[in-house]
Amino acid sequence: MSGPRPVRAPRGTELSALGWQQEAALRMLQNNLDPEVAEHPDKLVVYGGTGKAARDWRSFDAMVRTLRTLKQDETMLVQSGRPVGVMQTHEWAPRVLIANSNLVGDWANWEEFRRLEALGLTMYGQMTAGSWIYIGTQGILQGTYETFAAVAAKKFGGTLAGTITLTAGLGGMGGAQPLAVTMNDGVAICIDVDPRAIERRIEHKYLDVRADSLEHALRLAVEARDARRPLSIGLLGNAADLLPRMLAEGAPIDIVTDQTSAHDPLAYLPSGVDFDDMAAYAAKDPAGFTTRARESMATHVEAMVGFMDAGAEVFDYGNSIRGEAQLAGYERAFAFPGFVPAYIRPLFCEGKGPFRWAALSGEASDIHKTDKAILDLFPENESLARWIKMAGERVHFQGLPARICWLGYGERDRAGERFNDMVASGELQAPLAIGRDHLDCGSVASPYRETEAMLDGSDAIADWPLLNAMVNVASGASWVSLHHGGGVGMGRSIHAGQVSVADGTKLAGEKVRRVLTNDPGMGVVRHVDAGYESADAVAAERGVRVPMREG
Ligand code: NAD
Repeated sequence: MSGPRPVRAPRGTELSALGWQQEAALRMLQNNLDPEVAEHPDKLVVYGGTGKAARDWRSFDAMVRTLRTLKQDETMLVQSGRPVGVMQTHEWAPRVLIANSNLVGDWANWEEFRRLEALGLTMYGQMTAGSWIYIGTQGILQGTYETFAAVAAKKFGGTLAGTITLTAGLGGMGGAQPLAVTMNDGVAICIDVDPRAIERRIEHKYLDVRADSLEHALRLAVEARDARRPLSIGLLGNAADLLPRMLAEGAPIDIVTDQTSAHDPLAYLPSGVDFDDMAAYAAKDPAGFTTRARESMATHVEAMVGFMDAGAEVFDYGNSIRGEAQLAGYERAFAFPGFVPAYIRPLFCEGKGPFRWAALSGEASDIHKTDKAILDLFPENESLARWIKMAGERVHFQGLPARICWLGYGERDRAGERFNDMVASGELQAPLAIGRDHLDCGSVASPYRETEAMLDGSDAIADWPLLNAMVNVASGASWVSLHHGGGVGMGRSIHAGQVSVADGTKLAGEKVRRVLTNDPGMGVVRHVDAGYESADAVAAERGVRVPMREG
């Protein structure tokens, strides 16, 4: 019987599959479950609460086996983490097509999902967990860095020096917050109920120190703030208890956000419950746990609103905590905005989003060479250069070495083609897997997050991610995924992903050029359609065809 065991992607140039496209899918699936990468690899959980890479160990074994024998004109179909078929297709078709966690509208809630999951019929794929392009906390680091940079630009004169940010959640994604704040020269207090989450972030150098108590955390924070010295402080405790206490005591907080796993009420620890009892309680009484978690989230959000009323910059960081607090009856839950309308949408209008790549060789030197290529390709982009330099110095690789940076329409294809040339010339030791988060400009419908407060009110229109997936299939991506419920939970999002493999062949070069043009192109057309003038200008300048603008 197959069961939990350590998984690690092979390195080097020896293939265990019939070609690099299949080998890439195989290595990236395995990489998602590498103990250095995944939060709970024994449970196949990669990140984001219960976001999984495979439904169960038998399905994982079957996918590995199938990928090893999959031909260049075949496609493996994956239904919520289980391989369900192999079809003959053609060389331009994706080698893997993935659909995760999708439910019909009226059934799209956690209760029904969990019923089906318990029957072994589905799994939660989050965004990059079930689509095999999670690269550890770095993946979110740059987006988080950009968000805090935007906060600094909006309210604090372009730097977070001299400010204190308060947040909670130091998990797979939330763990990027302390480093993103210190990269912007600020001070961060980061609360988590799990001591291992705090230790892990310190070990990976994302978090500087752990405080012994709330008083200690505040003392350290104020000293660092007054010296305008960047510092991140981990604080053990429940955010639903600590935030109201800090508000009542008048803690000098400038910025408040949150990245606990609020999107899944069974992954948010209710106040009054011991962390060690959490899993057993959630399993025994999910309905009772959910009610208590939502009540605690209402208390947590009420304190966030209190900080906002006291003058702090407060935003929801895409975990649906406002929605959950509202379900518990807190009326002002939506008093503060989500981070996308507040800071990120202008980037989406340019087709910008979290472009990433992983070195299948396993060699850090391959990534360092691609870093140089990016600097060389976009010399005029100062913030990109600052990011690439800082990432090179401060980012600890988890699993296969990888890099992320936000690139837009007309940029991603140039980077992809350059990478493919570098593989072809032998400059890189092996091919690269080039993908992105589902949190991107034209690949997601998520009214509490990426599509919150769209200009034309089209927040819940989910045709866009479906078109995005189809465009990527038609353009030659190596694997394409279509998920439901990532980021913000069941019933609240539909999103698509793609990964393309630059293996140095002419065919890969052609595919990469099309995919990396059309995929961000979806972001431009989506925002043109919604009436954003800046997207319209980008379309006009860079030649993105939008029929309703022609004639
Ligand atoms: P995770 O499950 O790996 O980590 C969540 C952390 O929250 C855990 O360490 C847990 O111990 C802690 N936690 C739970 N209840 C708590 C409480 N009451 N008080 C303090 N800590 C508590 O999840 P993750 O991958 O870090 O993602 C966190 C959330 O942020 C998810 O909802 C995810 O969807 C969302 N997210 C949003 C974005 C975005 O929009 N940019 C990006 C990444 C993640």
